[in-house]
Amino acid sequence: MTAHTPTPQALAQAAGVLRAGGLVAFPTETVYGLGADARSASAVEGVFALKGRPAANPLIIHVLGAVEARALVDWTPEAAALARRFWSGALTLVLPKAPDCPVARAACAGLPTLAVRAPAHPVARALLRAFGGPIAAPSANRSGAPSPTTAQHVLDDLGPDAPLTLAAGRSTIGLESTVLDLSQGQPAILRAGAVTAQHIAECLGAEAIPMADTRAGAPRSPGLAHRHYTPRIPVRLRAYEVRPGEALLAFGSTRFMNAGAAAAVANLSEAGDLDEAAANLFAHMRALDRPAHAGIAVMDIPQVGIGVAINDRLARAAE
Ligand code: AMP
Ligand code: MG
Repeated sequence: MTAHTPTPQALAQAAGVLRAGGLVAFPTETVYGLGADARSASAVEGVFALKGRPAANPLIIHVLGAVEARALVDWTPEAAALARRFWSGALTLVLPKAPDCPVARAACAGLPTLAVRAPAHPVARALLRAFGGPIAAPSANRSGAPSPTTAQHVLDDLGPDAPLTLAAGRSTIGLESTVLDLSQGQPAILRAGAVTAQHIAECLGAEAIPMADTRAGAPRSPGLAHRHYTPRIPVRLRAYEVRPGEALLAFGSTRFMNAGAAAAVANLSEAGDLDEAAANLFAHMRALDRPAHAGIAVMDIPQVGIGVAINDRLARAAE
């Protein structure tokens, strides 16, 4: 299977595949998604089967915007304010399912809530427009692999099982969306992403419950209970030196590191730019995760802005 350039013909073909209950891999600004008609139980089950994803881990439903979201969930003033500010973009909102919600139960793992997002990527939006309905889409990797940030990653992961794949270069953000739960009282961050706790607080005029507290308490997001991406070799965080046989995942200058001793080096951002580091994270982890390396030493990444989301993904990879 090869990736398709998203020409009008390819988009029409992809929309036809979705309408027929099939799957389509497509680019978004966060990571590549594996999409299915959210209203079709069998199409959604195909997503879980292809990924090897536990049935209890619900999918994010992709829509064009607030108008389309309101047909699926009970919209609130908070949701409206956040959507006005951050949609289309990397913020997923968890809200109670609308009474007449057409989304298949399997997509939300039978939960009374639904996660909705309006992606900003022009190809994702063109696909949503051509299809004309909600698209259920998790990241287009096999469960346990890092999220794909290029079409090639999708083809590498899914191999001969890869569905029609639309290609549009690298995902510019490179990390999965921020997930914010608006379904029970005080908003709670379930997953860190490019839209930070500070961005959300500025918009709402009130703090959201931070991800650390959400994770420590009763798990509000089923996905958090499941195994996330873990490389095949050990990952060592906040490394100040390279140990024998290790590969180095660098950030910023390596002047004070023994980088020359590393089995391989990939720098997330030589300039020390956190957005660039986020965009490179999964591709660099894929490149360094080789059985020939004794492990991956990761340099310290500042816990500010999108650095919080980068450190969250690294901490899970090191678990
Ligand atoms: P992925 O689509 O692979 O990026 O994963 C989607 C994330 O959103 C997972 O962590 C899910 O657990 C989370 N999620 C999806 N739907 C819900 C929901 N109704 N309530 C809480 N978390 C959700
Ligand atoms: Mg995923």
